[in-house]
Amino acid sequence: MSDTTDRDPEFAFELRVCRWAERAWHPDGPRPAIVARQLGTRNRRWDTVVIEVDPDAFAARHALSADGFDSDLLRVVRHAPAEWQWYRDAIPEPDFPWRHVVPAVHRAAGRGVVEKRRGSRNRVEYKQVAPYPDWVERIVAIENKPNLDASAARALADQLEHDVSRALADEVWVATEATGRRVEPALLEDLPMEVGILAVDGDAADVLWHPSKLTPDPADARQRLVLAERAYDRGWRAYLDTMRPDCRHFELSRRGMALVPRCAAKECYQSQRECAHSCTDFEPEPPIWRTNGWPIEGGPGKGLRQILESRRERARKRVFEKRRTHDD
Ligand code: SF4
Repeated sequence: MSDTTDRDPEFAFELRVCRWAERAWHPDGPRPAIVARQLGTRNRRWDTVVIEVDPDAFAARHALSADGFDSDLLRVVRHAPAEWQWYRDAIPEPDFPWRHVVPAVHRAAGRGVVEKRRGSRNRVEYKQVAPYPDWVERIVAIENKPNLDASAARALADQLEHDVSRALADEVWVATEATGRRVEPALLEDLPMEVGILAVDGDAADVLWHPSKLTPDPADARQRLVLAERAYDRGWRAYLDTMRPDCRHFELSRRGMALVPRCAAKECYQSQRECAHSCTDFEPEPPIWRTNGWPIEGGPGKGLRQILESRRERARKRVFEKRRTHDD
């Protein structure tokens, strides 16, 4: 059974790293942060992304909307003026025709994050309901490799070199499973020296190597904010969207402090790829589970979603609580 072996498969390990980061970020001392997974740019996708936040500004961001803003909405909301203004006077000129901005103004108004009206000469005017706060402090990328042997390190080295030279994140780490050996093998591998190394052991993580601070280009500010908004929107528990929680064999199993998908039919922590429409062992959840026979209304597929969503909301609230502790 793969869940009783020493090392988790990569997907389960990744979820454990996300959960650890959510509870215990940063290794040098607590910093309020939110966590997401499988995010990045068109050219590079990171396993785990930690967004360190200013807790007051994060509370203001959350008050504005519990959902993230895509790049079009972000343009509108971020530049929303305090007083009524024609949208073209408020927003910096985009590198595409202005007419494509108008639908985003309507969308933002539909979501209640700005107000809009027809002004003089029938122009679309809008204003903020609250200022868009400066909530993102730092962005950290973590690559997860539970079994960081020489060949895994070689495969990773080029990507990590790219992350360091591109400097879209402020800090880059590799997380690997602790082996308990006197010298962790990860330390002996040939990784860029700017990249930190974490050894994850159960629910804890030790720093084997501290990362260098990178210096993001100010020209990347908008791209970094779009990334942070996607992290805020998706979190790290959105994996159910691409799996089969409606299968009767799908379970969420406790792995330390993390809940990790487990397949009762295959008796393992299944990957996202195998728990898909192509799975030949798929069996739909029995209709009775969708009725009052199941403790959570709507059947287990829906119930599991609710569990994960409420965990995510609790994690967000803990970031605000750090603000209150700080105020006291
Ligand atoms: S049987 Fe297939 S679809 Fe069902 S939980 Fe297992 S891996 Fe997922």
